[in-house]
Amino acid sequence: MPGRDTVDFDHIIVGAGLSGLLLADSLLDTQGVRRLLVVDPRPADDRSVTYAYWSTRPTILDRWAVGSWNRLKVVDRRGQETSATLNAARYVAVSWNRARAELFGKVSQDSRVTLLQQAVDLVWDGTDCGCVRVGDTVFTGRWVYDSRPPRLPVGAARGRATHMVQAFRGIWVRAAGQVIDTRCATLLDFSTDDGPDLAFTYVLPVASQLAMVMAVRMSASPQMPDPVPAATRLLGSADWTEVAEESGTTLLIPSRRRRQGRHILAIGRRGGRVRASTGYAVTRILADTERIRHSLRTCGHPFAVEPDPWWQVILDRIWLQALTREAAELEEAFLSLFTRAPVDSVVRFLDGGAGRSDVAAVIRALPPLPFLRALLA
Ligand SMILES: Cc1cc2nc3c(=O)[nH]c(=O)nc-3n(C[C@H](O)[C@H](O)[C@H](O)COP(=O)(O)OP(=O)(O)OC[C@H]3O[C@@H](n4cnc5c(N)ncnc54)[C@H](O)[C@@H]3O)c2cc1C
Repeated sequence: MPGRDTVDFDHIIVGAGLSGLLLADSLLDTQGVRRLLVVDPRPADDRSVTYAYWSTRPTILDRWAVGSWNRLKVVDRRGQETSATLNAARYVAVSWNRARAELFGKVSQDSRVTLLQQAVDLVWDGTDCGCVRVGDTVFTGRWVYDSRPPRLPVGAARGRATHMVQAFRGIWVRAAGQVIDTRCATLLDFSTDDGPDLAFTYVLPVASQLAMVMAVRMSASPQMPDPVPAATRLLGSADWTEVAEESGTTLLIPSRRRRQGRHILAIGRRGGRVRASTGYAVTRILADTERIRHSLRTCGHPFAVEPDPWWQVILDRIWLQALTREAAELEEAFLSLFTRAPVDSVVRFLDGGAGRSDVAAVIRALPPLPFLRALLA
């Protein structure tokens, strides 16, 4: 903004979802933050949202955990089950609606925070600040973090760009009797959907009478899946009722530039923190929050966040390309991972924390043809 010599805020966070609220909370714990603006049109509501991820150490989300497991199973189209025990990590499910309500309350009550329940229209780079337009008002911040959900890449409508939409629909089911085995979570069950898309369900059994059954479908445009067949399979002949539901969509796109100007950093989904091949994001968003804080402390700016390793970016692109071309074939790829590679390597691969030896193990386990065809396409 030429001619302006004052900056309204130290930090502006656009979007108070998972990445925005975690960052706001972390910044408020950082010395020297005096003025923080958080803008989001949606008040923190109590819609049920459950996120699952792998954890090897305590995180801020632990206090909202509804369950955790070290035994996971995958189920193929014919109903054949394979299970594995995690050594280094636990699979954790958190109630994001509870976490969101508490974090939102904590952030909004802090005297350094200005909270605006409106939509941001535009974010751009000024001369010495980042600028955020909300209606007729322009706010300026030394650093702006943008977590508005990304749009479809240019060209996607003409079928040129690589993208998939991951659509989720889940139900919380309560059984009349104690019929649910809580020792093992179902990570991928391909037996309950026989359509042409890549579709599966996962089950988070949090108590002997309570579980979340989530159906997921990946396709070029949002196609909502149905979790009821999987719930019926889980509960057999027992009586059950649906006590809550949750749904949403995530766009899977290749990773993108994070720095969007001299003062603007894209975070969360917008900052490519959703793994393009698998849709997992929570572990990456937690790690990113720490890196931004560390970068601010050590470099005086938020941009010293490590880029994703080049081999991960390439692998994600090939995987996404294979998904868009022959989604149903990838069912075998996901199953091969669990039957032919060490499970700890697989989970590190799925959430983006894999090292070279994990990736080598994963590549050896995968059926090569869909990926070779995607590479040559
Ligand atoms: C149903 C569902 C289930 C998922 N499950 C998992 C899971 O189990 N494990 C996992 O690792 N990942 C999961 N993901 C992926 C990922 O963790 C989530 O999408 C996560 O919410 C991403 O965080 P975010 O901050 O980028 O986006 P969000 O949490 O969606 O936050 C974006 C915020 O931006 C706000 N906003 C939008 N437009 C504007 C605007 N114009 N101005 C200001 N604010 C705006 C929105 O209101 C929202 O609050 C799931 C995604 C969905 C949709």
